[in-house]
Amino acid sequence: MRWFFLLSLVVVLPQVAFAQRAKTEVPQTEAEWTALFAAPPMRTPDRLRTMTGAPGPDYWQQQADCEISATLDAEAGEVSATLTLEYTNNSPEALPYLWFHVEQNVFRADSLARAVAAAGGASADRIDATTDGVRMQSVRCRGRDLKWAGYDTLMRVELPAPVAADGGTVRLELAWSFEVPKDNSLRMGRTNTLDGPMFALAQWFPAVAKFDDVHGWNTLPYIGPGEFYTEYGDFDVALTVPRNHVVAASGTLRNPRQVLTGHQREQLDAAMKTRDTVMVRSADDVTRGAGRPEGDGPLTWEFRAQRVRTFAWCSSAALVWDACSTAAGVLCQSYYPRSALPLWNEGTQDLRQSIEHFSGKWFAYPYPQASNVNAYGDGGGGMEYPMIIFNGRCNDSYGLFALIAHEIGHNWFPMVVNTDERRHAWMDEGFNTFVDYYAIVERFNAPGAWFDLDDWSKSWQRIGAPMSTAPDRMPPGSMGFLGYDKPAWMMRMLREQVLGAERFDAAFREYVARWAFKSPTPADFMRTMENAAGKDLGWFWNSWIYGAGKPDMAAGGLGGEKAARLQVVLQGRFVSPVPWLAKLKDGSTRAGCIPAEAFAWGRRVSLDLGVPEAAVESVELDPAHCWPDMNRENNISKPGQPGLKPPAPNKNAKAGAAKD
Ligand SMILES: [Zn+2]
Repeated sequence: MRWFFLLSLVVVLPQVAFAQRAKTEVPQTEAEWTALFAAPPMRTPDRLRTMTGAPGPDYWQQQADCEISATLDAEAGEVSATLTLEYTNNSPEALPYLWFHVEQNVFRADSLARAVAAAGGASADRIDATTDGVRMQSVRCRGRDLKWAGYDTLMRVELPAPVAADGGTVRLELAWSFEVPKDNSLRMGRTNTLDGPMFALAQWFPAVAKFDDVHGWNTLPYIGPGEFYTEYGDFDVALTVPRNHVVAASGTLRNPRQVLTGHQREQLDAAMKTRDTVMVRSADDVTRGAGRPEGDGPLTWEFRAQRVRTFAWCSSAALVWDACSTAAGVLCQSYYPRSALPLWNEGTQDLRQSIEHFSGKWFAYPYPQASNVNAYGDGGGGMEYPMIIFNGRCNDSYGLFALIAHEIGHNWFPMVVNTDERRHAWMDEGFNTFVDYYAIVERFNAPGAWFDLDDWSKSWQRIGAPMSTAPDRMPPGSMGFLGYDKPAWMMRMLREQVLGAERFDAAFREYVARWAFKSPTPADFMRTMENAAGKDLGWFWNSWIYGAGKPDMAAGGLGGEKAARLQVVLQGRFVSPVPWLAKLKDGSTRAGCIPAEAFAWGRRVSLDLGVPEAAVESVELDPAHCWPDMNRENNISKPGQPGLKPPAPNKNAKAGAAKD
């Protein structure tokens, strides 16, 4: 999702002016400092998740195959549907009940999300609409009604008998309806266009909760900021909508003869054979109400989506539709109201280029199609689902490409590498923002302002929480920084400054390949990177992920009789290597880099410059601004400059307690 990312740009930039001189904090004890070099907390490796970070021989995950039949009543703004769930329990534990997420209940007046928001919490600032939530009609097994109970956005269903461990299955039939929220509230809903309403439908069916080897049932409530974590399944979905609607969805359209005109089928066939954009339904068709099959009554669109973690769709009479194909044969489609023109006729090319870039660089796009939908109309932001992305308004070609690249980039993180978004935003938003950077650089041959290290670092001053914080617990206004920017910069630092592109790329590709269509934890990621890249990165993970320390390298005094020695101190609770450049009085220079490992014994080192002090004009730390640094004004040292004083211990701090 990108709501918070865009918001963060607005919020962060005005803070730049006064944030510059804020002080960095200093660790309390030597033990706290040296702990930064230990391995971060990770569960002991076992046969499910191995010591190298791979899925082990006993790794298991559940399978949740779904057949859905849904009808959209566009006049009433309601969806009614039935779902047949075929659930396979591959876990070693028999399950007497199943938990489901019923996210539409977030829109109820009495939802937990609203109560948290009313009390000043970070959640729910985008829950504009109020509905009565999910109206469950029945939950059945082999025709028999089952007992179920709803708890806010969760539902517990009692099974007639426990579903057996190690491959037992159960088949449930559910029926429900709900009112589609107005004004695109919290990632989905209804938007008005010149040519009628658009219905963006997501979090719209009861989705069985993820059951895994880490937490058992994943039942964290849906309160807004935290996204999703779901099982894989194959979906067969039949969507009955007004005849004048066009439907974009996860999956492949299975009955084009029933729902498209002959001309549209020809245009789609043509689009499959070219990387150039082909018009399937023009703005002129939309204006005239044309481009729909003759006849009366609603039409049923049938889609199949395999190995997906959810299913989303958009339905409207207002959709212009164009398409092309990637070199590898992935059908790329864009759907948008005509008010989005002329900018949106670039969307399908943006989509194709993004998919080709990510496929070439990290992992081949595994699905047959991708649909880019301007489902939010003039609203902002974007949201990702398997094979389909919902996007809002953009101002220019740069913004549109960046948004499309980001949302379709989520088809790698987390649609293919299925991480727990409710807990670890950095592994989906962060990794995605990281890979987006290279797609944007490739496309525009120059990074935008989002990627200026010094500008971004200034916003660090106001953030006191670690990146590992779950989105629902992040301090209000910090999601853009903690969920997107900091992890993206972490990955860039690891690639560009610590490991180098070749070493990093091999390791990160191994991570994606070994966890494709599986669910890694943070430890699985860190272990994979350390094993594949062959480097102990404890200091790096602790500084970036688990600590809230702020980087500040400082140059102290120059001393030494024969050879000049420079005092270098890492003042923040944050470890990094320290590149340096010495300018000598004869006009020559000397340069080097103090490795991060040199600080393992303490945050002060004394660097031998290899020349007499009298020969030195000045020394500067990180002259190329390769690393984030809260205060660059203390990075230059000249002969005669006094050394840095040791920090005064904080008498109020409890022993061992982290200050940041
Ligand atoms: Zn996102």
